[in-house]
Amino acid sequence: MKVLIAGGGVGGLTLALMLEARGIRAQVFEQSGRIRELGVGINTLPHAIAELEELGLLPALDRVAIRTRRLIYKTGQGLDIVAQPRGLWAGLDAPQFSIHRGRLQTVIHDAVVERMGEGAVQCDRRLVSFEDTGEAVRAVFEARDGTRHEETGDVLVGADGIHSTVRAQYYPDQGPPAWNGVLMWRGAAWWPQFLDGASMIVAGGFKHKLVLYPIAHDPDRPGEALTNWVVCSKVGDATTPIPAREDWSRKAPVEEALKMAEGHLWIPEMDIMALIRATEEIFVYPMCDRDPLPRWTHGRVTLLGDAAHPMYPVGSNGASQAILDARDLADRLAEGSDMVAALADYDSVRRPATAAIVAANRKGGPEGVIDFVEDRAPEGYTDVHDVASEEELRAIVGDYERLQVAGR
Ligand SMILES: Cc1cc2nc3c(=O)[nH]c(=O)nc-3n(C[C@H](O)[C@H](O)[C@H](O)COP(=O)(O)OP(=O)(O)OC[C@H]3O[C@@H](n4cnc5c(N)ncnc54)[C@H](O)[C@@H]3O)c2cc1C
Repeated sequence: MKVLIAGGGVGGLTLALMLEARGIRAQVFEQSGRIRELGVGINTLPHAIAELEELGLLPALDRVAIRTRRLIYKTGQGLDIVAQPRGLWAGLDAPQFSIHRGRLQTVIHDAVVERMGEGAVQCDRRLVSFEDTGEAVRAVFEARDGTRHEETGDVLVGADGIHSTVRAQYYPDQGPPAWNGVLMWRGAAWWPQFLDGASMIVAGGFKHKLVLYPIAHDPDRPGEALTNWVVCSKVGDATTPIPAREDWSRKAPVEEALKMAEGHLWIPEMDIMALIRATEEIFVYPMCDRDPLPRWTHGRVTLLGDAAHPMYPVGSNGASQAILDARDLADRLAEGSDMVAALADYDSVRRPATAAIVAANRKGGPEGVIDFVEDRAPEGYTDVHDVASEEELRAIVGDYERLQVAGR
């Protein structure tokens, strides 16, 4: 069996490794000229890290990332709402990692190359079209110089992100991603460590939100951490045209991010304005997703990760769910000779599970707990328990936690 994978992001590369571990041939085709460390911070949840651990990647992750110890929800004015231990500190078998997205991709890519050889990931190969003949899949990839390369496989997996070519071939009328009016300014800078150096803070509700966590330490910079920040601001609504095509690498001037944070976001643990000012590269990205699909699988072709279920980046589920997709699909393909049935079964389990997360994220995911408290006490409080009971607070974050491991 040979599996063609379009897209060398976290989802596509993880699938390749998992297939290799099951003795199935796979080849990744990536449109970029090379795998570069793009993006900023990302969190990967314990249930997904457990899968990477099974692939033997934990030591490599530990070298470049931080095991997240605690997640603290606060109001936009820095009042404490609820704190949760994470990963091993929550009694789970695997850690949660706060990591640079590009480094996560590199860790997986290096393992693919080491175990499967250089040729396993072909860069400068953009999938432009494909045909399921019933017996096989023929896919055409284009290089930047315009040359075309045809490849034949038994299965094609579209792991080609939010602008998936595979998805667009089956759903040509899907239109652009759906935007909720929120823009996210993102960046990372070396900065004096806050709290225990392994905690994550989410402060502020849907309209003005700050997300803050360290993503790397460096022995040459004691007391500091590469500190990832995101400032979210609601600048439009569902009727406002999306300001720019969603591009994770779109840069923004520092003044824009400062303006969005000033007067709306303040926490005692960190001088946010100074951190933003110290950040060399700032990116802006619209918070967008797509409606869940009626089908991912068509015969020998299926979708995975953001191509299948782009979701708002709340609740740390983008990369995590892509990894769970890969595990499910690899297991099913390894089970038997009926590839078409394997792909259909994968669709029937993973599609509803991830559609529920897309829907929950539209309501704010676990971060809905902040809106809940801010709505009840817009002027603030001395003790959060005067505003909401511990049970109410834990129910909001707990319900979401249960959702994200469903469909495994
Ligand atoms: C450059 C970049 C930066 C990102 N930065 C962040 C971030 O800072 N924070 C965050 O939360 N999330 C970020 N994301 C999104 C995050 O990586 C995903 O939500 C998650 O990891 C799921 O990954 P995926 O593999 O499904 O999709 P993606 O990570 O989007 O990977 C898809 C891959 O497919 C490739 N591709 C696209 N079209 C084709 C084609 N036609 N043929 C071949 N290859 C194709 C893309 O170049 C990309 O490498 C970023 C994504 C990208 C592409």
